[in-house]
Amino acid sequence: MMGRPEGLKLIDENGKRIDGRKKYELRPIKMEVGVLKNADGSAYIEWGGKNKVLAAVYGPREIHPKHLQRPDRAILRVRYNMAPFSVEERKKPGPDRRSVEISKVIRGGALEPALLLHMFPRTAIDVFIEILQADAGTRVAGITAASLALADAGIPMKDLVAACAAGKIDGEIVLDLNKEEDNYGEADVPVAIMPLKNDITLLQMDGYLTKEEFLEAVRLAIKGAKAVYQKQREALKEKYLKIAQEVEGNE
Ligand code: UDP
Repeated sequence: MMGRPEGLKLIDENGKRIDGRKKYELRPIKMEVGVLKNADGSAYIEWGGKNKVLAAVYGPREIHPKHLQRPDRAILRVRYNMAPFSVEERKKPGPDRRSVEISKVIRGGALEPALLLHMFPRTAIDVFIEILQADAGTRVAGITAASLALADAGIPMKDLVAACAAGKIDGEIVLDLNKEEDNYGEADVPVAIMPLKNDITLLQMDGYLTKEEFLEAVRLAIKGAKAVYQKQREALKEKYLKIAQEVEGNE
């Protein structure tokens, strides 16, 4: 949220946004599962073309340092990292306050409730989320990719976690803000859900909303996340179809 260039309108007189979308329209999303050979699970997402996010999962595996071991369950570790070339103004490499916070809410909030960690005592599951290119909404894209990578690694889960944001621009509640909308809009509300049980696992808000607007934004973000969930299922199916075809081809 920052001071906007004079005269910039985020919604035009026909109700269209600057990238041509309608108020409740998601950006186009592409997902692929199993893209890294040396990870136990992986996924790649392009969200709106301009967000490019890779997730890799290792584990369950032995923990180093050992004192972090839990006798009754696996521990989940998450690192959200932005590549220096991922944003317009070069991002200094390494963790900053924002990425530490995002890693933390993705771990404990968004992903952990979905995992059956007690099945793997004394081990660690490591999730790496690499933002190769950013255009707003990287945490929801990261959560969505990480959950696919966890499923790809064969980690038992209660449900996939799907995420999406809604927000307020030019006084209107809209779905899935892009970079200009995030910069010059009034609010952004990222939400992660486990659709099977109607659970919300992450809910954040940046900016200002009335109670009614907040509820509208949350409802809209949940709808968006449900659409993302369908795409996740398709991406997983596609991967297993490919494997099945390969097996058939070898017979
Ligand atoms: N951003 C940036 N430099 C940074 C951090 C963020 O240019 O160091 C941009 C990036 O495009 C990001 C957007 O600001 O996607 C919005 O960031 P926010 O913290 O709202 O998280 P996100 O929407 O990506 O989850």
